[in-house]
Amino acid sequence: MIKSFKILWQKDSFERDFITWLLILKEYRQPTGLNWGCCLNIKGLELEELQAFLGTYHLPKYRAAQIFDWLYQKGAADWEEISVLPKSLREKFRAEGVSLGRLETVAVENDPDGTRKYLFQLEDGRRVESVYLPDAERHTVCFSTQVGCAVGCLFCATGQLGWSRNLTAAEIIEQPLRIGRDAGVRINSLVAMGQGEPLLNVENLLKAVRIMNHPQGMGIGARHITISTCGIVPGIQRLAEEPLQLNLAISLHAADDRLRDRLMPINRKYPLAAVLEACHAYLQKTNRRITFEYTMIAGVNDRPEDLRNLAGLLSGLLCHINLIPFNPIPGKDWRRSDPARVRLFEKELLLAGIETTVRKERGTRLSAACGQLQGKYQNEHSSPVS
Ligand code: SF4
Repeated sequence: MIKSFKILWQKDSFERDFITWLLILKEYRQPTGLNWGCCLNIKGLELEELQAFLGTYHLPKYRAAQIFDWLYQKGAADWEEISVLPKSLREKFRAEGVSLGRLETVAVENDPDGTRKYLFQLEDGRRVESVYLPDAERHTVCFSTQVGCAVGCLFCATGQLGWSRNLTAAEIIEQPLRIGRDAGVRINSLVAMGQGEPLLNVENLLKAVRIMNHPQGMGIGARHITISTCGIVPGIQRLAEEPLQLNLAISLHAADDRLRDRLMPINRKYPLAAVLEACHAYLQKTNRRITFEYTMIAGVNDRPEDLRNLAGLLSGLLCHINLIPFNPIPGKDWRRSDPARVRLFEKELLLAGIETTVRKERGTRLSAACGQLQGKYQNEHSSPVS
C-alpha cells in the first residue's frame, strides 16, 4: 500500500493536483459558497505559495518572481501577456485551468471629479463594489472584503443587503488590480472600507494585504493601506499582532452605547468600552495613530450631547477624527447634518485637543453610499443574485 502510494506520489500530475488542492483549500478556507470544482486562481497566492505550486511543474523559483512581477507590477490579466514565460508553459497553464483572475466588470459610474465606482461580478455571479479615488499623485482604491455585510448598520446600504459570503484573498486583490488597469494608473493607496466588515474576514484580508504590500507584489507601503472596522475587538487584536504598519480606522458614528446600539447593532456585542480597550492595546503595541470615522446625521448624532460624548471618549488618545457628511440611502429619511453643525464639531473637537478634519466629498454624483450601485443595478436588471 505504502509502496504503491509512493509510486503514485512520484507521478507529476498526482503531486500537482495534491498541492493545487491544498492551495485551493487554503484560498477558500473560509465559507465562500464557491464551486469546489473550480480551478486555482494564482492571484490569491503569496510568493512562497506560488513557488511551491510552480515547483510541482519543476520550475525554478525565479519563475514565481517573474509571474509575481507581471501580475502585480505590470498588471497582466492574461497568460498571453506574460511574455517572459515560454509560450508552451503559458499554454499548459491555460489548458490546465490555472487562472489569473475571474472578476468581471458589470457597471462603472464616473463622476466629473474623476471618482469612479465599479460593480464587479464574481465567479459565482455575486457582485461587489469598489471605488477609485484619484487625487493628484495619489491613486486610491476603496475595496470590498465581503459580499454584503452581516453587521447591519442602519445608515449603510450594504448593511441592508445582508451577508452572502467572504471574499477570497484573490477576489480582494483583484479589485485594485482591475481598477489600476482600467484607469491606466499605478494604484498607490488602499482602503478596506467597501462592502463588508474587513475584520470578519481578517485572514483572507491579511493574505491579500501581504501581496499588496510585498515589494515584488503591488509594492504599496503599509502606511498607505487602511483597514476600517466597525469595532470587531478580536480583529483589532489580530491586527495588532501583524508586523505590518497598517492604518486602523474605527467606524464610530456614536459616542455613547445607547445611541451606538441603535445605529450599529454590533455595539451590543462589542460595546464602546471594549472597542476603546482594544484601541489602547493596539496603540501600545503599534504606536500608530487611529482614525475614528464619524458620519454626521442631522438630529441623530450631531446634538450638543453627542459632541460632548465624542470629545470625552477620545480626548487623550493618539487619534484623528474624520467627520463625514451622511450620504442619504433609500428607505431612510435621515438627512446629513447642516454644514455649520459639522464645522462646529470640527472647531470644538480641535479645541479639545483632538485632531479633526471633515472628509472631502468625492463622487457626489455617483451612487454615493456603499451598496447603492449594486442595489441600483439589481433593480434595473432584476438579477436573482445579491
Ligand atoms: S458600515 Fe460597514 S460594517 Fe456597517 S453594515 Fe455597512 S459595510 Fe457592514
